[in-house]
Amino acid sequence: MCQNPNESKKNPSHFESIEHFEDTPTHRDLLWENYESLIQGMRFFDPHIHMVSRTTDDYQMMSKAGIVAIIEPAFWVGQPRTGLSSFKDYYSSLVGWERFRSSQFGIKHYCTMGLNSREANNERLAEEVMEILPLFAFKEGVVGIGEIGFDDQTVLEEKYYRLQLELAKKAKLPVQIHTPHRDKKRGTERSMSIATEHGLDPSWVVVDHNNEETVKSVLDQGFWAAFTIYPFTKMGNERMVSIVEKYGPERIMINSSADWGISDPLAIPKTAALMMQRGIPKEVIRMVTYQNAIDAFAKSGQIDVSDFDLEFLPDPNAKFHGNSVLRGGQQPVINKNSLLIQ
Ligand SMILES: [Zn+2]
Repeated sequence: MCQNPNESKKNPSHFESIEHFEDTPTHRDLLWENYESLIQGMRFFDPHIHMVSRTTDDYQMMSKAGIVAIIEPAFWVGQPRTGLSSFKDYYSSLVGWERFRSSQFGIKHYCTMGLNSREANNERLAEEVMEILPLFAFKEGVVGIGEIGFDDQTVLEEKYYRLQLELAKKAKLPVQIHTPHRDKKRGTERSMSIATEHGLDPSWVVVDHNNEETVKSVLDQGFWAAFTIYPFTKMGNERMVSIVEKYGPERIMINSSADWGISDPLAIPKTAALMMQRGIPKEVIRMVTYQNAIDAFAKSGQIDVSDFDLEFLPDPNAKFHGNSVLRGGQQPVINKNSLLIQ
């Protein structure tokens, strides 16, 4: 700590970085609490977030920031599942307990169902999962088959990606594609050409985790381009602002993909506030943070925006299979700014 400004001058690199902060409005000035008011009254839809890994604090902050609805894609839970029952319980929680938990914070919860690419490499288990997937794909509130696609781009990943594209066609559901972190450009092109080969209309396919390298081709081929605002590994939101400035809002949507890793469930409202601060028109922001995701996934016939009604108040006594998110008469929404915890 250099409390005396002269002290800091002894350290040239430290001094230089302080000068930099004073010249341009960077991290020191851009605090979320100072910009939250810019998005007051706006509604947001996060089409990719893994709430089973998140806490009630997250739900409360999301609701307060204007997130009215979310999609939770079925995914890899951080370690390999050892049997079919784990998949069954996980899929059941996406249409059951997690949806209920979300409703208790006034957030409408949808999900996509699928076998993730990593676990497609366990052929024995993948075969069993493919047998139970249709049982879940047709359930209420399932708005797509996802997140599917490539991870290491193996033969087995391709096999189960193709089978799930066929399931999406049969179930008349949109597809949510996870594109790989490694060799992304090739993996993205391959995912799109296989989807086209299976006769999927690109307007039914959301290609996720795009970056500057992939966006043009995805848009040119008529697919939806989703962007994940995720620290370090995917996109920062300043880069996202530049992409929207360059390509406009058509068929572009942003999401948080918040999960068990270091991630931010407020990625969408924060990016919206940054866009306001950078002078992006409000209607453009509305499209990339709300409307486009609804238009893409409403093809499932499962989304009714009147369900997002702001007047909606959760019933604190509601229970799911006898369980509530509340303990001992708690109210679901508490004042997070209060020092007192009651
Ligand atoms: Zn994900």
